[in-house]
Amino acid sequence: MALLEAFATPFDEANPTAGHAALLNERYANRQTLDVLDDVINHEFGGRVALVSSFGADSVVLLHLAAEVAPNVPVIFIDTGKIFGSTLRYRDEIVARLGLTDVRAARPDPATLASHDSDSGLWLREPDKCCAIRKVAPLARALSSFDAWISGRKRYQGGMRAALPFVEADGERIKVNPLAGWSREDLVAYRKLHDLPEHPLVADGFRSIGCMPCTTRVADGEDERDGRWRGQDKTECGIHFGLAAFETDGSGI
Ligand code: SF4
Repeated sequence: MALLEAFATPFDEANPTAGHAALLNERYANRQTLDVLDDVINHEFGGRVALVSSFGADSVVLLHLAAEVAPNVPVIFIDTGKIFGSTLRYRDEIVARLGLTDVRAARPDPATLASHDSDSGLWLREPDKCCAIRKVAPLARALSSFDAWISGRKRYQGGMRAALPFVEADGERIKVNPLAGWSREDLVAYRKLHDLPEHPLVADGFRSIGCMPCTTRVADGEDERDGRWRGQDKTECGIHFGLAAFETDGSGI
């Protein structure tokens, strides 16, 4: 840390993680994304940070950037059991193409599924509970040994993401959003510049891709996330609402 940075923001002793996030926001304010990822993965949180990826519509950009600085960075993929087959095949293609060597699947606990979703239809009855069992709790377990994680959210996606900070506190863990300021055009340009393959469902009208039952095509003029949980108030799965409650007993149910 540069001496100047240490004096720029008083460290918040009552909330050291928030203070750490504020310091990092200052440090990274005018840095290139690749430079930030290099610092986060190889220095600031060396060996203690994981990248979380859905291998969805835009994921290849962040994965390519991370692979440029550390192909061995742990990548966590939440395999809910409801993922499109084309996403699983796309994941395998991207992993091989980028040379990622540490991709981990975070899966729901079988006993929890048996007791709360035995007919596999919880997504229809209680989608928040389904996300808690199939996404949030598995991610909380997968991140339990890490001090920081990297997400691919962007401000242009709107909703709760419109005010997304570059670095934020997530309980006692730091969360870095290196693409927060990127536009859709930036992502497309980067993907084309590096000749990176597009998720096959994008050409079929899917612009934000999650679980199969909760993802629909997006029409012209709609926001890209309008196809998620269509017809419901729900706009997020919950992994960005804080994982701490799910780390106590690993279920959060
Ligand atoms: S996105 Fe749908 S299917 Fe996937 S975990 Fe959430 S509610 Fe369940």
